[in-house]
Amino acid sequence: MTSIAENLADLHSLIRDFERRYKRPENSVRLLAVSKRQSAESIRAAHATGQVDFGENYLQEATEKQQQLFDLPNLAWHFIGPIQSNKTRGIATSFQWVHGIDRGKIAQRLNDHRGNELPPLNCCIQVNLSGEESKSGVGIRDVTPLCELITKLDRLKLRGLMAIPAPLADFDSQRDCFRELAECYGQLQSKYPGMDTLSMGMSDDFEAAIAAGATMIRLGTAVFGPRL
Ligand SMILES: *Cc1c(COP(=O)(O)O)cnc(C)c1O
Repeated sequence: MTSIAENLADLHSLIRDFERRYKRPENSVRLLAVSKRQSAESIRAAHATGQVDFGENYLQEATEKQQQLFDLPNLAWHFIGPIQSNKTRGIATSFQWVHGIDRGKIAQRLNDHRGNELPPLNCCIQVNLSGEESKSGVGIRDVTPLCELITKLDRLKLRGLMAIPAPLADFDSQRDCFRELAECYGQLQSKYPGMDTLSMGMSDDFEAAIAAGATMIRLGTAVFGPRL
């Protein structure tokens, strides 16, 4: 378990190095530890170092771990997987963040299921960048109408954009791809000042994501090692 603590310490110093190298403000990049297919004990080990943000892709797996970890204070759970409409109730009840909103119907259902006793659900819209083969995510031209809808739903809070670009081997093409999202984010921010989150970059490309302006990087294997 010490290796998780060591990985996190190394990653935090690397992130601070990259912030300096790419002229990003200090502490402007937040690490989301992606704990899908990792044990509750591994999450506990990460939490012991001060890690509070955890990302999960599957509702059932996540709620089982949440039950095992009910005693931990201040955990923030982020749903980062694809959202099926029959899962919106569970997601809206068990998470503080949802990163993969890609259609109005899902936004509306999450809003309907988010209880009044809870703070508004933090939302990122998933964008499908050019050349991406995956079918999830809205095209860059269709982001604004979805922003418009989410800001009208009072149980949701629009926080930003998220993308999962196709894997690219070299740094320059990774950064160019992330820049496309960063530009879109910059334009939207002037219209929606509450937006403060650009969720992009994973274990294999987070340096390029930080160079392009990521404010939240989603790291799984770099934190926990191979998935179970
Ligand atoms: C699994 C996953 C990650 C983490 O991937 P790693 O390569 O292990 O860092 C990040 N984002 C999403 C949406 C994921 O599904």
